[in-house]
Amino acid sequence: MQDTNTKVELLSLLPDELAELLVSLGEPKYRAGQIFPQLHRGLSPDDMTNVGKVTRAKLAEVAYYHLPQVERKLVSAIDGTVKLLFSLSDGNCVESVIMKYEHGNTICISSQVGCRMGCRFCASTIGGRVRDLTAGELLGQVIAAQKELGERIDNIVMMGIGEPLDNFDAVVKFLRLVNEPSGICIGYRHISLSTCGLVDKIDALAQLNFPITLSISLHAPDDETRSAIMPINNRWGVDELLAACRRYYAVTTRRISFEYTLISGKNDSVEQAEKLARLLNSRLRSRSDTMPIHVNLIPVNEVTETGFVRSGERAVRAFAATLEKRGIRATVRRKLGPDINAACGQLRRAAAKESENKE
Ligand code: SAH
Repeated sequence: MQDTNTKVELLSLLPDELAELLVSLGEPKYRAGQIFPQLHRGLSPDDMTNVGKVTRAKLAEVAYYHLPQVERKLVSAIDGTVKLLFSLSDGNCVESVIMKYEHGNTICISSQVGCRMGCRFCASTIGGRVRDLTAGELLGQVIAAQKELGERIDNIVMMGIGEPLDNFDAVVKFLRLVNEPSGICIGYRHISLSTCGLVDKIDALAQLNFPITLSISLHAPDDETRSAIMPINNRWGVDELLAACRRYYAVTTRRISFEYTLISGKNDSVEQAEKLARLLNSRLRSRSDTMPIHVNLIPVNEVTETGFVRSGERAVRAFAATLEKRGIRATVRRKLGPDINAACGQLRRAAAKESENKE
C-alpha cells in the first residue's frame, strides 16, 4: 500500500513541479525531462532503465507512483466499446469507458468516487460522494486505458462518475497535465467537460479560458421540472445557469452543448420541447448573435433504483424534430455498448453490491 497521505503523487506534478522536486533531492533539473514522459507512458520510476538506482530510491522516499489497476474489463461484442473498472490506491473503484469512433478513441473518465449532486436518474450518486480523485488519478485513467488497449486515446469526455466542477482544482490540474506536449498531449479541443450546473465554477472555468467544450446537463425546460430531478437546480435555477452559459461563451467563444436525458412522462413531451427551444433561443440568442447551440438527446438509461423509464422512439423523434424546427440542432445519442451496460456508475455499484453480499 502506498503512503498516499504523506508522499507526493508523481502523476499530479507538472514538469516544473517535478523539476523542483528533483532539485530538492539534489538531482539535476534536466532529469525531469527524462522522467516526466515515461511516467505519462505508464512507467513507474522503478521501471525506468535510464534512471539510476540512487535517484529512484530518493524519489521513492518522498513520492509515489500508482496507476489505476484494471479490476474488470468488459468489451461490447456489438460496437467494441470497452468498459474498465479501475481500483485506486486505496481500493476505491471508478469506471472509464472507451468508445471507438471513426475519428478515434474517446475515453469517458470519472472525476470522483461517487457523487453528491443527487440527480434522481443517475446511478453514480446513489451512495453519495466518497472522495475526490486527484489530478494524477484523473490522468491515470487515460494512461492505464492506453496501456490496456495498446492504442492511443484521442479524445476525452469528463462524463463518468462524479461532478468534475465539484473537484475543480484537481480537474484544472488534470487539463494542464494531459495537454503537456511531452506527456499524453491531448489538445483542449479534444476534451469535453460535462457539468450539472455549478454556476460559480462555470464562471471560474471561463476565466481560465481553456478551449475545451463545455456540456451542460440541462434535462428540463423549466425550474419546476428541473428541480424535481436535479437538486442542484434549487441552488442555481435555469435562468442563472443559462446566464452563466452566456458569460462562458462571451469569454471563450466555444460552442456549448446541452445534454437532455429523455425520461418518459417527465420531460419528453412536444410541449416541453417547444418550451426548451423557446428558452434556449430567448436566453442565449439575440438578433445580432446566433450562438451555436447543440442539444444531445439521451433516452434515459434505466437504473433499477430510480424507477425512471426511457422515452419511446416516437417521443424521442418528435422531441428532436421540434427543436430542429426552432433552429436548435439536436442529435439523438446512439447507445454504445448496449450489451455491457456502458452507462456510467452501474459497474461500480454492481461490484460494490457483490462485495457486500460476500461479507
Ligand atoms: N456530473 C456531470 C458529469 C457526469 S454525468 C454532469 O452532471 O454532467 C454525465 C451525463 O450523463 C450527464 O449529462 C448526466 O445527467 C447523464 N446521466 C446520468 N445518469 C443517466 C442515466 N441514467 N441515463 C442517461 N443519462 C444519464
